[in-house]
Amino acid sequence: MQNPNSTHPFANVRWIWMNGELVEFEKATVHVLTHALHYGSGLFEGIRCYKTRQGSAVFRLPEHLKRLENSCKVYRMEIPYTREQLTQAVFDAIIGNEFEACYIRPIIFRGFGSPGINPLPLPVDVVVAVWPWGKYLGDEAAERGVDVQVSSWRRFSPASSPAVAKATANYLNSQLVKVEALTNGYVEGIALDHSGNVSEGSGENLFMVADGRLLTPNMASSILPGITRDAIITLARDMGIEVKEVNMPRGMLYTCDELFFTGTAAEVTPIRSVDRITVGEGHPGPITQRLMGEFNGIVRGEIEDRHGWLTPVARVEAAARS
Ligand code: PMP
Repeated sequence: MQNPNSTHPFANVRWIWMNGELVEFEKATVHVLTHALHYGSGLFEGIRCYKTRQGSAVFRLPEHLKRLENSCKVYRMEIPYTREQLTQAVFDAIIGNEFEACYIRPIIFRGFGSPGINPLPLPVDVVVAVWPWGKYLGDEAAERGVDVQVSSWRRFSPASSPAVAKATANYLNSQLVKVEALTNGYVEGIALDHSGNVSEGSGENLFMVADGRLLTPNMASSILPGITRDAIITLARDMGIEVKEVNMPRGMLYTCDELFFTGTAAEVTPIRSVDRITVGEGHPGPITQRLMGEFNGIVRGEIEDRHGWLTPVARVEAAARS
């Protein structure tokens, strides 16, 4: 598998960390009878490494690795590496590829072995890939906001799949939401939960501003416990904004003052319309802009990292040498 052409995000990926070592891009492959390919038995993460004024730094790495460990725990998949080894794997992949800023994709999955659904006899494979990745929902999304629809597809019920685990299988549901939205001319879709309340986007959590308060769907609405979501809740409270995790009725999407997505890939992305109904004034509102400014400032090292969210790559590099 060769690198794609020069404009592709994978174009300059030279090394992928796979089961304990960096392997060349074209050799980082699996067998077609890999269990995860057939039965969705993969747990993964999406993390960002930012270029800050003080050098490259990874955003909330311990929290992402904790979520990955929790995802594996739910599916009784034992990770054959410690937290420290996974942390080192992330830095090895970044440093090996010489990226200043990149997206980081750890994935842990059931590999090649026996046929059938039972995953327990199968090996657990671990991969950490990195690649440069720009604005997930479009270059102008942050300035203008994006147009979204409420999906006709519901988020899976907590009785059938645990949303707390970031499982590859969950992303078939996300693909139904995303493809329907794109087919209908929207950038993204919002899924309702099993009972009709708002859940989240195909790969983002959702926030709204209503009457000066910041509201976001609670964990019972089959949301992924987003790490950017947690950061935004923290930053809003720092600013003295009241934040509530709620059962969010669909109707509020049309009447709220501000609406935005959060996610590692999407960062903070304002939403300017839902089902062609304008949100607020039709451009990013004041609270969205303040939170976006604070978030972007911290991840880029322009505002003090007062919550200790950034792990500098250089520091780990230096520790590994000593
Ligand atoms: N929900 C879903 C379904 C996602 O895939 C993501 C992206 N990981 C999020 C929410 C946002 O989570 P985070 O802020 O941790 O990236």
